[in-house]
Amino acid sequence: MAENMIPLAIPNIGKREGEYLQACVNENYVSSVGRFVTRFEDELAALSGTQGAAAVGSGTQALHLALHALGVGPGDLVIVPSFTFIASANAISHCGASPWFVDIEEDSWTLSAAAVEEALRARTERIGGRLVHRPTGRRVAAIMPVYTLGTVAAMDRLGAIARTHGLALVADAAAAIGVTYQGRPVGVCADLTVYSFNGNKTITTGGGGAVVGPDAALVKRIKHLSSTARISPDYDHDEVGFNYRMTNIEAAVGCAQMERLPEFLAAKRRIRDRYDAAFSDTPGVRPFPRPSHGDGAFWFSGLIVDDARLPGVKDLCARLKEHGIEARPFWKPVHGQPPYRGAPAEALGVTEALWAKIITLPCSTSLTDAEQDRVIDSLKPMLALQENQ
Ligand SMILES: *Cc1c(COP(=O)(O)O)cnc(C)c1O
Repeated sequence: MAENMIPLAIPNIGKREGEYLQACVNENYVSSVGRFVTRFEDELAALSGTQGAAAVGSGTQALHLALHALGVGPGDLVIVPSFTFIASANAISHCGASPWFVDIEEDSWTLSAAAVEEALRARTERIGGRLVHRPTGRRVAAIMPVYTLGTVAAMDRLGAIARTHGLALVADAAAAIGVTYQGRPVGVCADLTVYSFNGNKTITTGGGGAVVGPDAALVKRIKHLSSTARISPDYDHDEVGFNYRMTNIEAAVGCAQMERLPEFLAAKRRIRDRYDAAFSDTPGVRPFPRPSHGDGAFWFSGLIVDDARLPGVKDLCARLKEHGIEARPFWKPVHGQPPYRGAPAEALGVTEALWAKIITLPCSTSLTDAEQDRVIDSLKPMLALQENQ
């Protein structure tokens, strides 16, 4: 990237990360056990309000293990929003299952409980203890809400729906580390909750993920599955496992990042507040939604460009690039991507109307006020509506 280019979202790595990485080298603990893995898992569990955490190699692996451990298997359907990063759907596919796409709420960008309820009412019936999707004859196994931008979905309602129908509830909380829901920590709102520590998330381990949950035995089983289901050092394994463990090197970076999580969350929210204030009087644009049940993590900041007379998002991104600013569209709905065109889907009107209007703007935790002002001052004139246009 050019010297003075302002990037969209880059990691914020400091001295402490270097010290902990050096400790891994000095202690000769670089692989998948070590004190940083244990410490990182303990800290994640404490932050999430859960009895345990299993640190793994990516958010996608964490989702795959969570679904697998809750019994999602070949032929099953998992209810998931189409408005998500494709990894949510891929994890379902890795189980041999298929996503069943349901729409989001306009005011939270998360899975609509009303739409889920209606989809289940209209399309399923209970046959011999199984909840069956009538159009395909497949079993419905789980609901997977996505905490878009770090905003928790309507988990009180989704939890009640899951209980009523006997469905597993796995939360894709990839970018929601450190948030609360109605005053409760984020990890207690679903059977299992998954984080990602990819390079562009609020905290990073280079690449990594974790599963947390209130059921200690279940989290322990996930840890077991992630480590080739090994039951003794003598090559004894009790089921088909995975090699999905996080390394001590990755966890060392994670522990250093965790020390700065409050600072990073404050920075993300401050960036959001400054963009929202700067564009509050700009006709035709709206801020990203704010949850009413507790502040979100605001992994990404940006605007909804909602006036046909304004330039499109792609055009705005190209023009910002000329100003040395990296801006990007947000998730393209998954149901339109080639691998998922045949998957069952309900009406996705909110998803389809929304996604092309979103522009994400620079929001690294290291972004300075001066840099953010440069973004604002560059973008503002591009959003000026001309009279008689
Ligand atoms: C980042 C992300 C993932 C995938 O995590 P990886 O660590 O990149 O595998 C899954 N779901 C959502 C919503 C994400 O934002």
